[in-house]
Amino acid sequence: MSEEKKSLNFIEQIIEEDLANGLPKEKLRFRFPPEPNGYLHIGHAASICLNFGLGLTYNAPVNLRFDDTNPAKEEQEYVDAIKHDIQWLGFKWDKELYSSDYFQQLFDWAIEFIKEGKAYVDNQSSEEMAKQKGTPTEHGTDSPNRNRSIEENLDLFMKMKSGEFNEGSHVLRAKIDMKHVNMHMRDPIMYRILKKHHHRTGDDWCIYPMYDWTHGESDYIEQISHSICTLEFKSHRDLYDWYVDQVYDTNLLRPKQREFARRNLSYTVMSKRKLLQLVEEKIVTGWDDPRMPTISGLRRRGYTANSIRTFSETAGISKRDNVTDVALLEHCIKDDLNKTAPRVMAVLDPVKVIITNYPEDKEEILTAENNQEDENAGFREVPFSKEIYIEKEDFREEANKKFFRLKLGKEVRLKNAYIIKAESCIKDENGEVTEIHCTYDEDSLSGSGSEASKRRVKGTLHWVSIKHARKAEVRVYDRLFTHEAPDSQKDKDFKEFINPDSLNVIEAFVEPSLKTAKNLDRFQFQRLGYFCVDKDTTANKLVFNRTVPLRDSWAKMGQ
Ligand code: ATP
Ligand code: MG
Repeated sequence: MSEEKKSLNFIEQIIEEDLANGLPKEKLRFRFPPEPNGYLHIGHAASICLNFGLGLTYNAPVNLRFDDTNPAKEEQEYVDAIKHDIQWLGFKWDKELYSSDYFQQLFDWAIEFIKEGKAYVDNQSSEEMAKQKGTPTEHGTDSPNRNRSIEENLDLFMKMKSGEFNEGSHVLRAKIDMKHVNMHMRDPIMYRILKKHHHRTGDDWCIYPMYDWTHGESDYIEQISHSICTLEFKSHRDLYDWYVDQVYDTNLLRPKQREFARRNLSYTVMSKRKLLQLVEEKIVTGWDDPRMPTISGLRRRGYTANSIRTFSETAGISKRDNVTDVALLEHCIKDDLNKTAPRVMAVLDPVKVIITNYPEDKEEILTAENNQEDENAGFREVPFSKEIYIEKEDFREEANKKFFRLKLGKEVRLKNAYIIKAESCIKDENGEVTEIHCTYDEDSLSGSGSEASKRRVKGTLHWVSIKHARKAEVRVYDRLFTHEAPDSQKDKDFKEFINPDSLNVIEAFVEPSLKTAKNLDRFQFQRLGYFCVDKDTTANKLVFNRTVPLRDSWAKMGQ
């Protein structure tokens, strides 16, 4: 194998093989087929990056096809959100299509099936049909309705279509083989009656095609060369092929279904049904709650499209089920924001520091580098004055040698400012420190070039000038679940593992340069982590979400 071949994933290898066997390159065509019954999540991102990535690699079109065959669960809101998320991730589809575009064609083909003796109407109860289905080791048995006449089938199917029957009373089944080793081939249902309003076709139809019947035929109509889906559909592949073969014209391309393993992520759930439960039961504030594994939740949390694409690529695709560690996702966003996020100072848990030898009314405008990782990021102004806030946990009256922060009698540097020394502190009746009195070395200003400015002290603290600081609400998130695999614990509902402390709302103080920050602007709060402006921000109130801490507190806890 050449160097180049080695880096191909197994789907690309299949495509390369097809090309080598004569498939013309211009016939390559892919699709991403979401069902509009929820918002996209980080698992969908794997499929999006795979399909649209193949489109880019082979310069081939990729359709966005909404798989909208179940009107009971589908809504326009979801269609709009899905389109927005794919665009935000940075991908462009060729055509925007809907399975419902093909309802008439599918119906016409179904009529042909009936006329060719390949489909029949069954009016048994679903329990009876299930009993006849057999098991993986036992044959199924034929339905008593399997040999209805073509005329009777046509008549019943037309009555199904015209709304004469109740939901659940009749189905159209493909007549394949009740003894087939693959249970999906045992006379699968093609149509069921659903008297529901469809978000696109309105009340035109009251019979709706099943997934298997719809998917392969839609791929065929669109001339998709490689229809990539997740592993649970592997056993459906026989049926996919059978359906396509019934309508396949040899002058056209016969689409090929291939499967890869779903992306699972630790400490979360990914099924839309479960995510919808979290939304409906108000366990989260919505699909875009920053704790959700949805694309919209991750975006609101501060994730960049770039970090999600990098994550998808790094995690790769696999032929076997597996769970990706959420730490990899966190690593990807930290790595991205480290390069791009402006640095600012914010104090989340403040204690007051008074610099006793600093003149009462003096104010200085100091200069701070925006991002030492990016030489084009420039500088900003940070005001300094006699009273500042530092983090409570950055001060101790006494501490051992390893505590490189502020303690009585010792010095630290204030970031971009002066060296200060703690002289004394005031405590309340509970023994909590409420005020720290320090002195500063007035020659020690960072970047001033003086001897004192070069003096080395262990420990640099972030701070804000009290007089100039802005109040901000900071939402600090932890994982939504306390268990690594919340939805695969025997006899336990995934909701039993909801982390009760997944959101902590803090009133913080941030440097004044942040007053103009806009929704989705991202920052590194120095020494703390990455934070992003939330959409709840108003002219009078700044709200930030913590995207990720700089250090992984979870790992530190030994979880
Ligand atoms: P869910 O179980 O979350 O509802 P789904 O498979 O029903 O997912 P669809 O909207 O039908 O969701 O999925 C659209 C496409 O995205 C399909 O091709 C599907 O295989 C793929 N996909 C869905 N979930 C994942 C995942 N976790 N990892 C990779 N691909 C996924
Ligand atoms: Mg689905």
